[in-house]
Amino acid sequence: LKAGKQEMYDLLIVGSGPSGLAAALSAKTHGLSYIVLERGVIANTIYNYPIARPLFSTPDEVELERGALPAGSKPTREQVLSHYTHFVTSQRLNIQTDAEVRRVTRLVEGFLVETVSNQYHARTVLVAVGGFGRERRLGVPGETHERVSYHFIEPYPFASKEVLVVGGGNSSAEASLALAEVGARVTLSIRRASLDEPGQPYAQLSAARAPGAKIKPWVLAPLQEEVAEGRVKVITSSEVVEIFPKSVILRVAGGGSSDIVELQCDQVLALIGADPDTSLLESAGAEIADDGRPVYDPNTYETTVPGLYVAGHITREMHMKNAVKIARKTADIISSQVNQSRVVG
Ligand SMILES: Cc1cc2nc3c(=O)[nH]c(=O)nc-3n(C[C@H](O)[C@H](O)[C@H](O)COP(=O)(O)OP(=O)(O)OC[C@H]3O[C@@H](n4cnc5c(N)ncnc54)[C@H](O)[C@@H]3O)c2cc1C
Repeated sequence: LKAGKQEMYDLLIVGSGPSGLAAALSAKTHGLSYIVLERGVIANTIYNYPIARPLFSTPDEVELERGALPAGSKPTREQVLSHYTHFVTSQRLNIQTDAEVRRVTRLVEGFLVETVSNQYHARTVLVAVGGFGRERRLGVPGETHERVSYHFIEPYPFASKEVLVVGGGNSSAEASLALAEVGARVTLSIRRASLDEPGQPYAQLSAARAPGAKIKPWVLAPLQEEVAEGRVKVITSSEVVEIFPKSVILRVAGGGSSDIVELQCDQVLALIGADPDTSLLESAGAEIADDGRPVYDPNTYETTVPGLYVAGHITREMHMKNAVKIARKTADIISSQVNQSRVVG
C-alpha cells in the first residue's frame, strides 16, 4: 500500500451516485474536509443504464441543483449524466474515480479506508455504494460470459438474432421491447404464471432478500401488445436449467407437472437483479439485518458503528428522490457533529 494522503478527512464518502454527490455538496457547504472515492466513473450505476433510457422519475426528484434538468418531461440517462458530471465540475467536488474501496477499518480515532493502491484516514465514513453490488447469477451449468450478459446496454448487437431474456422485472420487460423493435426474435422467460402478477424472488437466489420487481404499467401495456402481435414470446412458470452453445434448456411448470423444453438461442440476457454489497460495512463491524441491508438509526442513518453512516440504495430507500434527500440530511447531521466536536475540542 502506498501511503495515501496523511490528512485526516472529516468525512470520506464511498460512491458517487446521486446520494454520494448530494452528501459531498452538503459536506463542502458546511466546510468539512471530505473526499469521495468511486470505483468506476461518476454516477456509475446510471452510466450503466441502457443508452437513451428515460428515467421514471421527474427532473425535480433526481436533480442535485434545482432547475438543472429540463422541466416537463422525464430526463434521459444522458441528461442526468450530463447534469451530474457538470455538477461535479462546477461545484469543484473532491472526487477520486477508479478508486475501489476494499476495506473500512475502525481505529481508536476514526477509520482507515483502503483502496488497492492508497489508504485514507477519516473521522466519519458515509457508505453510499448503492444496491447493485452483488449481481445475481442464474447458477446453472453452461452459464459463461460468452453465452450470458447481465446488463442490457442497447439492442442493436442483437438485431435478427434469437435472444432469450430471463427475468420478470422492469429491466427485462424494457429490454424485450427494445429488442423486438430492432427485429430480434425475443423469448422472455419468467417464473410467475402471468406477466401482470406481482414479482416473485428468483428461484435459486437469496429468496428471503429479493422481492421480485413488478413491471411498471407503462412498460407492461406495450409489452402485452408485442406479445399479442407475436413479436415477443413469453414462457411463464419457467426457469433456465442449463445453457448449451446454441440452445437453452428450460423447465416449464403447468398443471401440476413440469416439462423440459429446449430453445435455440444466440444469446441469453439474464436481467434478474442484484443485491447490495455490504462487505465494507461488515469489514468495519456494522450489523447487517436479515433482509441483507444494514441496521441503522432511521433518523440519522448512522450504523451500529459510531461515525459510520449509510445513504441511498444500500439502505431501504430504493429510489433516487430519497437517495438525494436523505443523503443531504445525513451529511448535514455529520457536519454539525464534526463541527461541534471541533468547538468542544
Ligand atoms: C436500469 C435502471 C433504471 C432505473 N431508473 C430509476 C428511475 O427512473 N428513478 C429512480 O429513482 N431510480 C431508478 N433506478 C434506481 C436508481 O439507480 C437508484 O435508486 C440510485 O442509483 C441509487 O443511488 P445511490 O447513490 O444510492 O447508489 P448508486 O447510484 O448505485 O451509486 C453507487 C456508487 O457507488 C460506487 N461503488 C460501489 N462500490 C464501491 C466501492 N467499493 N468503492 C468505491 N465505489 C463504489 C458505484 O460504482 C456507484 O457509482 C434505476 C435502476 C436501474 C438499474
